Amino acid sequence: MNNSPLMQCSDVGKSFPKPDGTELLVLQGMNLELFEGQIIGLLGRSGSGKSTLLRLIAGLSEPSAGNLKFLGKPIAGPASGISMVFQSFALFPWLTVFENVALGLEAQRLPSVEIRKRSLAAIDLIGLDGFESAYPRELSGGMRQRVGFARALVVHPNILLMDEPFSALDVLTAETLRTDFLDLWSEGRMPIKGVILVTHNIEEAVLMCDRVLVFGSNPGRILSEIKVTLPQPRNRLDPSFRDLVERIYVEMTAKPAVVAGAGRHERFPGLGIGSVLPQVSSNLLAGLMEAVAAAPFNGNADLPKIASDLQMEIDDLFPVAETLQMLRFAEVEGGDIKLSEEGVAFAQAVVDDRKRIFARHLLTYVPLAAHVRRVLDERASHLARKSRFIDELEDFMSEEDAEQTLRAVIRWGRYAEAYAYDDANAMFSLENPT
Ligand code: ADP
Ligand code: MG
Repeated sequence: MNNSPLMQCSDVGKSFPKPDGTELLVLQGMNLELFEGQIIGLLGRSGSGKSTLLRLIAGLSEPSAGNLKFLGKPIAGPASGISMVFQSFALFPWLTVFENVALGLEAQRLPSVEIRKRSLAAIDLIGLDGFESAYPRELSGGMRQRVGFARALVVHPNILLMDEPFSALDVLTAETLRTDFLDLWSEGRMPIKGVILVTHNIEEAVLMCDRVLVFGSNPGRILSEIKVTLPQPRNRLDPSFRDLVERIYVEMTAKPAVVAGAGRHERFPGLGIGSVLPQVSSNLLAGLMEAVAAAPFNGNADLPKIASDLQMEIDDLFPVAETLQMLRFAEVEGGDIKLSEEGVAFAQAVVDDRKRIFARHLLTYVPLAAHVRRVLDERASHLARKSRFIDELEDFMSEEDAEQTLRAVIRWGRYAEAYAYDDANAMFSLENPT
C-alpha cells in the first residue's frame, strides 16, 4: 500500500446552462481524495450534486472548474480502471447474464477465451453461478443488481463507483446484497482498491463506509466529514452505531451557513422547475404535521424522537420532513422539525380548509405545479397531456426522475384539488378553472 491517492478532486466545480441563459451552479469547491482500502460515502439530500460528482469521476462529464486525477493522471473521458454500478441496473434485456457481463470487457479487445474466463469468474464471485444463460426478465431485482456488480467488476477496476445501488431493491434484498458486498470487500476477494458510494440513506452510509462526506445543496458542496472506525461487520443496534447515525443526522439538518455567492438562503432552497421531487404522499405529510402539532411536541419535535414514536426509520421520515420544509409548512434544523404558522393552521383545520391551504402552498412553492396549473388555465380546453410536461422535464433530468417528479405533482395536485389527472388517457384537466 502506498499513500498517494487513487483518485483526487481539487477545487472541482460544475455548472449547467439554464434555459434562460444563466448558469445553474451544481457543485462548488469539491476537494476529495480516495485512498487505497477506503469506502467513501457521499451522503446528502436529493439534488445536492452527488450523482454529478460521480459522473465527473467516471469521466462521463467534464468539470467547469478545478481538476480530477486518477492514479495521478488527469481524468479525460472514461478510464478502464474506474467502473460504475447504477441504481437502475442498466442491463440489456435482450442479452443473457453472461453476455451482459462480458459486455463490460468489450472495449478491452481481449481474446474470447479470456473474456469467457473472466466473465464466468465475476458471475461466480457475485453469487450468480448457474444463471449465466438467464435473461434479465427471468431474474429478481436483487439478482439483476448482482449482474450490475459483475459487469462492473469484470474489468478489474481500481475504483468502483456506486450510485444508490441498493435503493431500487426491497429492504431484505438490499441488506443481503450489502452484506455480501462487504464480505467480499473485507476478504479482499474483489479486484477493487477503493469505493465511492452515493446514498441518501444514513444507516447505509454508517454500515458500509470508512468516511462519510455530508453534502449540502445550492450549490452542492461538502459540509462535513465523519470518520467511521467501527470494525466490520457492523451491528446496526450497537449504541456507537446509533450515535453515529444520530450525529450525521444532526449534521444533515444543521443550521446552514450562508454561502458566499449562492445568493439565497438554503433553509428554503429556491426550487427550479427542473428539481426532482420526492415520492411522499399527502397522507404522510398531513400525518407528520398532525403528530408534530400534537402534545407532547406542540409544534416542535426532535426528529429521531418523533420517528421512533411513529415507528418509522429516520431515513423514511426524512423525505417527509424535507417535503414539508419545501412547502413551507415546517423548518428542519439541528435535528428538529418545527411547524410554521401555516403548518400549525393546517394541522388544526378541517378537511376542506386543509385542501385550500395545501393548494396555496403547492402553487406558490412548487414551480412545476404552478406551471401545470398555468398551462391548464390558459388553454380553452383546460386539458394538457402528461407527455408534454415529461418532455419539458427531460431537459433537466433523466426519464426516470421526470416520471417520478410528475407523479409527485399529480398526487399533491389531486389532494389539493388544484387540477385533476386521468390515468387512463394520461391527461391533466381543470375542474374549476379560474
Ligand atoms: P443528487 O444525485 O445529489 O440527487 P444530481 O447530481 O443528480 O443530485 O443533481 C444536482 C442538480 O443538478 C439538480 O438540481 C439537477 O437538476 C441538476 N442537474 C444534473 N444534471 C443536469 C444536466 N445534465 N443539466 C441540467 N441540470 C442538471
Ligand atoms: Mg443522484
